[in-house]
Amino acid sequence: MGVVGGGQLGRMLALAGYPLGIHCLFLDRSASSPAAQVAPILTGDLEDAAQLAALAASSDVLTVDWENIAGSALAPLEKLTQVRPPRTALEVSQDRIAEKALFTKLRIPVAAHAAIDGKQQLIRAIRKLGLPGVLKTRRLGYDGKGQFLLRDLTQIDAAWAAIGGPGMIYEKFQQFSREVSIVGARSAAGRIVFYPLSANSHGGGILHYSIAPFANPGLERRARIYLKRVMNALAYVGVLAIEFFVVKGRLIANEMAPRVHNSGHWTIEGCVTSQFENHLRAICDLPLGSTRALGHTAMINFLGTMPDRERLLAVDGLAFHDYGKEPRSGRKLGHCTILKSRATERDLALSDTLKLINWT
Ligand code: AMP
Repeated sequence: MGVVGGGQLGRMLALAGYPLGIHCLFLDRSASSPAAQVAPILTGDLEDAAQLAALAASSDVLTVDWENIAGSALAPLEKLTQVRPPRTALEVSQDRIAEKALFTKLRIPVAAHAAIDGKQQLIRAIRKLGLPGVLKTRRLGYDGKGQFLLRDLTQIDAAWAAIGGPGMIYEKFQQFSREVSIVGARSAAGRIVFYPLSANSHGGGILHYSIAPFANPGLERRARIYLKRVMNALAYVGVLAIEFFVVKGRLIANEMAPRVHNSGHWTIEGCVTSQFENHLRAICDLPLGSTRALGHTAMINFLGTMPDRERLLAVDGLAFHDYGKEPRSGRKLGHCTILKSRATERDLALSDTLKLINWT
């Protein structure tokens, strides 16, 4: 299997592949990237035509650990091997406006929004949609990067100076009670399996921790319907995630990720088959595995610095994941998952562990 991008998602895919006898080859800029520490790698720019062709030529199937590879770089590879998920899914998810247009076409609610290419347009959008709102880059935004929360009109100049330019989107701020996400896998034959809903806590736009299963049958049913619509519309193959805001008991789609997702890391220890294994199974035309939860889990990201491994490993039911990355402020360096048989025990262990990691 060829994988474009060798970050932590690729690393966890490779690790899931070993027991199945699936071997991964990565393309990444860095020979010491998280995936390169556990699997062979070609080094080069992720959109380098020659390296991509070399990767495709030595793979039965090609997938991505990073969804922002230009469609024009991927298109020639379709003649050399199978590209899964399909290129169109990546292209849609690369542009927040295209993504919201697809959701709307599929009758999936989204926040009121407008495309913005200049400051005057932003002023008009704020007049029309109101405040507060979030100005975001349409492309290449992740983990809250390229976003500015506007609470009043006096902030327009500051927002524009900070991130303004062509190719922006202004979205009405959503007063959500929760953020949840659904992860599922679809086979080429159209079979879909869904993981239980996870409830996600963000800070500064970056995921801090998730709890799952988030037991809300009504929301889960809706989320499944929406994920299925998107997967079928895109003739999707592999794992796909959609993040939602819960506003007055309704799901508002925020964005989708055409890949394994941070809010699905809990499935490694928390489900019969992890999201990583099911992505491999789906793209390799193997039967999809059970997504049944084994208990109640919490997944906590390690951001910026690694916590004390010894202290965390002393927590009963805790699994520790170090991605092998250099520490840098705000960077995702690893995560831990706590698996308990009861939700109350999980909640207690979550708050104790957050204290240990200094997430207070
Ligand atoms: P995103 O990069 O769009 O996933 O945004 C990262 C995080 O910023 C989200 O998970 C929310 O916590 C917050 N956020 C982004 N857009 C909005 C919005 N329109 N309303 C409220 N919160 C938002």
